[in-house]
Amino acid sequence: MAAGRLTERDPAVDYRRDRRRLVERLRERGVGDSAVLDAFKSVRRHAFIPYALRGRAYEDVPLPIGRGQTISSPTIHALSLEYAEVRPGHRVLEVGTGAGFQTALLAVLGAEVYSIERIASLCEAAARALDRLGVEANLVHGDGSRGWPEYAPFQAIIVGAVAPRPPEALLSQLEEGGHLIVPVGTRRQELRRYTRRGDDFARETITGVRFVPLIEGEPSGGDRERIPVRTGSSRSTTRGRRVRGGDRERRP
Ligand code: SAH
Repeated sequence: MAAGRLTERDPAVDYRRDRRRLVERLRERGVGDSAVLDAFKSVRRHAFIPYALRGRAYEDVPLPIGRGQTISSPTIHALSLEYAEVRPGHRVLEVGTGAGFQTALLAVLGAEVYSIERIASLCEAAARALDRLGVEANLVHGDGSRGWPEYAPFQAIIVGAVAPRPPEALLSQLEEGGHLIVPVGTRRQELRRYTRRGDDFARETITGVRFVPLIEGEPSGGDRERIPVRTGSSRSTTRGRRVRGGDRERRP
């Protein structure tokens, strides 16, 4: 970019360039779904990263978000979204909201998002970040391994924490043809896709991974507490940004 130091001082401009580079990197890693790539161009990952680490927000790495948890690397989120085949209007369940970045990507892809986070402080921080960006999503504090039966079946379920085997409740809440994206394993882990075919589930391996463990059992107190996130015309605002960013792809 020609403007050198001047633009370097404008974080908004700088991050936009970083986002474009990240999208190129995702393409190199084999992500081909243009809607997913566009979502990465429009959603500000730095808004979900602790302040001290924001300079690294567009590196393709997982980063700590507090409480011993991490935001997954962009490649893992991108592959999860691509394999989940999220389309506008799909009802999607996310287990492990974490920082809320993938929640925002799902909303930008046009999904009706239901997201469960077991750690209250992370759930609240994610709700605040999503609220600030005007992203529409349904967030709840609780154990996501039980799914969210009130809103089942889901066209896609994406799990952000590893379990020895895919939770039964999540498989049972998939719609016919729907996909469960879940990291499975103990010491060696792999990201898998399960696709519902009647009472059977076709299983595919996406890639080797390292996730934090899924903590099963409701937090003390038992009852789920729903965390309000703004609703309204927010989605179209975020989409507008996506279209503008997409337009500039590959130009100098
Ligand atoms: N996609 C998120 C993943 C964060 S890490 C992101 O990239 O930001 C995994 C998250 O899953 C953590 O926030 C952890 O608290 C949460 N988690 C672990 N077990 C859970 C459970 N049973 N239900 C819901 N969330 C859970």
